[in-house]
Amino acid sequence: MCIFCSIISNKIPSYKLYEDDLCLVILDISQVTQGHCLVLPKQHVETLLDVDEKTLAHLASITKKYASIIRNKTGCSGFNILNNNFESAGQTIAHLHYHIIPRYTANDNFKIEFIEHNSINIDRIYRLLTE
Ligand code: 5GP
Ligand code: ZN
Repeated sequence: MCIFCSIISNKIPSYKLYEDDLCLVILDISQVTQGHCLVLPKQHVETLLDVDEKTLAHLASITKKYASIIRNKTGCSGFNILNNNFESAGQTIAHLHYHIIPRYTANDNFKIEFIEHNSINIDRIYRLLTE
């Protein structure tokens, strides 16, 4: 059983913020920034590619709701929604989850950097994706 399934079934404790038939919202143990939380489906699915459409829509709705609640309660100025899929993308727990990461200043502990990659042939990738 994965760590998140153990949390869902109350085998290991967590700081639960919300629970319904389909999903759970908990505080992330690492608290990358203050109020960092996770939205997860109760059903064990590994990645975004495995979740059914109804659950996906519900996760999106609860993610939006909790982003708003966290913003109102913490006073954060912004937030990132992050979903890592597969190991190469940084997924460490193979149970689908969305991070809600409140942001307070540009110099907090969390960084996402978009670095321009000049050697990628954009015409070739466009053909690959559209042919
Ligand atoms: P990933 O890297 O898979 O996108 O994110 C996994 C997240 O799960 C990490 O941010 C990590 O801090 C969090 N995490 C790992 N173990 C536990 C745990 O036992 N409880 C909680 N609440 N979060 C956990
Ligand atoms: Zn699981």
